[in-house]
Amino acid sequence: MLSGKGGTGKTFVSVNLAVTAKNAICIDCDVEEPNGRLFLKPEESVTEEVYTKLPQVLEEKCIGCRKCVDSCRFNAMGFIKNSPLVFPEVCHSCGACSLLCPTGAIYELKRPIGIVERGRNKEVQVITGILNIGEASGIPVIQNALDTKITEKSIMIIDCPPGSACSVMESVQTADYCLLVVEATIFGFHNFKMVYELVSLLQKPCGVVINKGDYTYYPLINFCKENNITILCCIPYQEKLAQIGANGEVASEKDDETRMIFSTLLDKIRMEVRE
Ligand code: SF4
Ligand code: SF4
Repeated sequence: MLSGKGGTGKTFVSVNLAVTAKNAICIDCDVEEPNGRLFLKPEESVTEEVYTKLPQVLEEKCIGCRKCVDSCRFNAMGFIKNSPLVFPEVCHSCGACSLLCPTGAIYELKRPIGIVERGRNKEVQVITGILNIGEASGIPVIQNALDTKITEKSIMIIDCPPGSACSVMESVQTADYCLLVVEATIFGFHNFKMVYELVSLLQKPCGVVINKGDYTYYPLINFCKENNITILCCIPYQEKLAQIGANGEVASEKDDETRMIFSTLLDKIRMEVRE
């Protein structure tokens, strides 16, 4: 599940599809703002801490060559008083500095950056990645959350971070099909095109769900036609859906019309994946 920007309804579509599919694994990879669990309310959750590696400099081995500082493309190292200094908040744990240090003066420490919660809501397995506030990269948390076995009969729904950054690329690596949730507005359309470019680069088949809109925003409709993108469904804005969401409930469990929309959407996705 992808969208060009936050607030488009990615989580809404994810949790409703998961509940409709029943035998589903719903993975929230939107690790900076994981909201799916607020609706799915998993029980008996087990939490696992996720770590990354933080380089440390052994001063007695350092010859002050600056190779580590120059090799860091994230500017996570400074050179102060002839000694390298690591800025943990911007370090991406890429390992380049320790690899390139000629004297082996850099070793790596484990540093906690977030957690992954695994629980269940009836037939839906709910997995949530949660990144600690202020961390530079959620990719290790996403990788941990995605490291989940899927049975033949279940469907895995991955709620990606918004946008088209590397965390989104990581989230869709193993996806068979990408669902692009879009708002029928100028801003929504602009961001949708960036996400579409990403899934095209990754050569992933995709379809579109228009949320909070209708079929009258022609720039989007025409773009989909020109690029042969299937519009799978259009979910109109309805006050009752906003009310159900505000109550922290899943619309397809509360409202027959919404249940039908998601049941039909799920059938269409299954057909598209088979094709
Ligand atoms: S690469 Fe190694 S030896 Fe050179 S400045 Fe960095 S830590 Fe010191
Ligand atoms: S691990 Fe990578 S990002 Fe972190 S300080 Fe070293 S080179 Fe920079």
